[in-house]
Amino acid sequence: MKTALITGANRGIGLEFARQYAAEGWHVLACARHPEKAGELQMLANQHPERMKVHALDVADHRQIDELGRSLSGESIDLLLNNAGIYAEAHRSGIFRSEDYEAWMRTFLVNTMATLKMAQTFASQIARSSQKKIVTISSKMGSIEDNDGGGSYMYRSSKAAVNMVVKSLSLDLKQSGVIAVVLHPGWVKTDMGGPNALISPVQSVSGMRQVIDRLTLKDSGSFIEYDGKPVPW
Ligand code: NAP
Repeated sequence: MKTALITGANRGIGLEFARQYAAEGWHVLACARHPEKAGELQMLANQHPERMKVHALDVADHRQIDELGRSLSGESIDLLLNNAGIYAEAHRSGIFRSEDYEAWMRTFLVNTMATLKMAQTFASQIARSSQKKIVTISSKMGSIEDNDGGGSYMYRSSKAAVNMVVKSLSLDLKQSGVIAVVLHPGWVKTDMGGPNALISPVQSVSGMRQVIDRLTLKDSGSFIEYDGKPVPW
């Protein structure tokens, strides 16, 4: 049985990943900041008691990541899905106010640093699995070439930075056969994407699962859209 470890699995894209991988027969280690409040995820876990387990994880808290690493040390992890993310300045435009620098730091902790910390913590479990994949959900908003709208300083810079983190990871982990990529999920109808987004979580995740399934070591270090198209850096 293949195993996926998913962060931010209680709602949005992460919940849909958990749903689809469980339905396909994967063993799903579904992480949520507050499992006691993750009603839909808990219901899903109850439907698949033999292959889904919910774990408490705030990805900004490195002690919690270390603790989870210790408690899952016996598991081989085929797929680490760094999905948790925040868009602190959604619904704001222009240059942000000075009090927002705290929020920018928090954004970097969640959207950027957590990816490296998770990869460091779980690298050996991923390397001994059969699929050996680290997939990080980034965004086209982190693409420098694609930025024709300006604004969103915190979000854009955190995603551009995580793209670079993953590029380096792809090189540093190549020898152990681990594939590391960043994906753009599309503009998705979630709390973050909002109701005007173009696609549903089902469409986005179905597309990304196909992309993930086809990944080989040659793709490591790529930035790919949910429909398989390359994204410019
Ligand atoms: P969402 O509906 O807002 O869900 C975000 C998820 O991240 C929630 O499960 C949330 O948990 C979790 N999270 C936030 N901070 C966390 C932390 N410190 N520790 C652990 N989990 C945390 O967003 P989404 O649309 O599903 O986004 C998922 C990913 O796709 C993000 O990385 C986002 O940047 C990316 N993305 C989304 C879109 C889009 O159109 N939706 C487009 C491009 C990229 P809580 O419920 O505890 O807050």
